Amino acid sequence: MDQSTTVLFGLPGVRVRRVERVESGARVVHVETAEGGSVAGCPGCGVVSVSVKENVITRPGDLPYGETPLTVEWHKRRWRCREPLCARLTFTEVIEEVSAGRRTTGRLRRAIACAVGDACRSVAEAAEAFGVSWPTAHATVIEAALAQLGDPEPVTVLGIDETRRGRPRWTYDVQSTRWVRTDAWDTGFVDLQPGAGGQGLLGQVEGRTSACVVDWLRQRTPEFRAAVQFVAIDPAAVYAKAIRTVLDDGSRLLPNARLVVDHFHLVKLANDAVTTVRRRVIWEQQGRRGRKIDPALTMPPPAAVRTGTPIAQGVHNDVEFSDRLRPGRADPHRLDRQGRTAGAVRARPHRRAP
Ligand SMILES: [Zn+2]
Repeated sequence: MDQSTTVLFGLPGVRVRRVERVESGARVVHVETAEGGSVAGCPGCGVVSVSVKENVITRPGDLPYGETPLTVEWHKRRWRCREPLCARLTFTEVIEEVSAGRRTTGRLRRAIACAVGDACRSVAEAAEAFGVSWPTAHATVIEAALAQLGDPEPVTVLGIDETRRGRPRWTYDVQSTRWVRTDAWDTGFVDLQPGAGGQGLLGQVEGRTSACVVDWLRQRTPEFRAAVQFVAIDPAAVYAKAIRTVLDDGSRLLPNARLVVDHFHLVKLANDAVTTVRRRVIWEQQGRRGRKIDPALTMPPPAAVRTGTPIAQGVHNDVEFSDRLRPGRADPHRLDRQGRTAGAVRARPHRRAP
């Protein structure tokens, strides 16, 4: 066939033999390995073979072109490896765009990864548009991401927190013949370097145990681990344990790191403690639930936990929360404009007309 068809088709490593239209209206491009492909070098030993065993046809998925479907039929040969020391008996031709075992061309995989990663299309939608299955489309995204993502640069302030991802699921493990509960939580590692230059999310692993944090940190370089000066976590004992890990040689996993607990959780714990004490004191002194007018609720919070508005909001939330427990029902302790409770209003003597 004319060389121009090969140029138009543009898949490196193959030459177009002919193009035909089948009954369904689809077009079939028949290609063969061009000289650029590794024609007969055994991938096991590198020895060039001259012994053809059989002709085979593969149909790698390729980029759509035009409005009617276009399929690629690659006519290639299976060669015998005559090298006695080689474990491989036969092999077929490969090209860079379709390496051994692949059923899609490299340009198709790059296009799908681009559609998802750069154009923010969903994996399902890209799979449908390019005529591949969801797992195949997803694998291209993983492949492209792994190629682009390098190891994170060293950080001085490392943040570790958990993220919930879907519901916990039970899967049957064939080997142990047991049902295994998959963890619905991920652990994320972020660069908390203040100001510009932060790297954002550095990594995310499945699970929220000490082991998964230690594993991720072990995979980093010694320079990365030595550079970490502060690790910010919520009050999670498993994360604290991971940060305090001592290696076999007696050194610490993060030799220069100080553990810092996120202040939001500390303030919340302090607020909760104050609220608990206030409720208990009112119960002891008044024998009832607290009201907005009770001095224990209206007095200013202790200075130690007064960091702005959270305390006042916390008290207000408590009252609101108790109201929400009984939707549609008036709070019997709430005071009206005359200072009477709803119960007192209901219990007042009925005024009869004279
Ligand atoms: Zn060989």
